Amino acid sequence: MNASHLVACDLDRTLIYSSRAFWLETDDADAPSIVVSEVYQGVPLSYMTRTAERLLVDLAGTATFVPVTTRTVAQYSRVQLPGPVPRYAITTNGGTILTDGEPDADWSRALQSRLNTDAAPLAEVRALLDDPAATDWILRVHTAEDLFTYAIIDRDAMPATWIDGLHAQCLALGWTVSVQGRKLYCVPAAVNKSAAVAEVRRRLGAPTVLAAGDSLLDQRMLEEAHFAYRPAHGELHEAAFQSHNLVVTSARGILAGEELLRSITAQILSGSPVSGASAKVGSAPLAARSPVGR
Ligand SMILES: [Mg+2]
Repeated sequence: MNASHLVACDLDRTLIYSSRAFWLETDDADAPSIVVSEVYQGVPLSYMTRTAERLLVDLAGTATFVPVTTRTVAQYSRVQLPGPVPRYAITTNGGTILTDGEPDADWSRALQSRLNTDAAPLAEVRALLDDPAATDWILRVHTAEDLFTYAIIDRDAMPATWIDGLHAQCLALGWTVSVQGRKLYCVPAAVNKSAAVAEVRRRLGAPTVLAAGDSLLDQRMLEEAHFAYRPAHGELHEAAFQSHNLVVTSARGILAGEELLRSITAQILSGSPVSGASAKVGSAPLAARSPVGR
């Protein structure tokens, strides 16, 4: 039984997909059967294939599945994954750890104290998105749980020089920038998925972490996992991100979601995470990681 292995999985454009990110290349008659994973204001919004649903149920029976998302708690609560509700979930880009659905107060307190010393205030970064010169491409600006800010953008109208400048400004303020589809995120570096995954791993005593994600906000989580997976689309794909522990799907879009689950399950069932997991919990050095795939 491999129940202790931790599978840390991003949601949007990794596990679940809006219709604009399906990227199906088959004839409609050959399209996979697709199920709804999220309803927003009474309308289906996110989906996965029926095969991916089955694979996820099977995976959750062989490992500890932990959703890891930049979504806020409210946005995460709309997502309906198959199988039992995961005991742990990481939301708000690592800003919140949910245990049996309840935010962990100790984690939030520790994070807030790191933010007070390591990052410029939220208002200072939000002001960069409220820039009057950017109104052609910054359509709306939101704040997520007072931790970070994100904007709905017109990507085609957004100049590369502007986003480059934003990256540089945010870096100097202790913040990071990620562009995913129609959303632009500005997030303090201290609010990251990898630290929250390490904390959940410590609590579970999980010997091995297998992680999947598609965006820059997932990169460190992938780099620090024993085994990492990303789809052949998204921000990391556009950046040609590679790592010694990384497998890239051959499919893109919604079919990449089920391919990821198939690869992760195969890795766990192969038993090799066990042999690569001799390091102490929470302190596995890079050298202890087992290279796999590309
Ligand atoms: Mg994603």
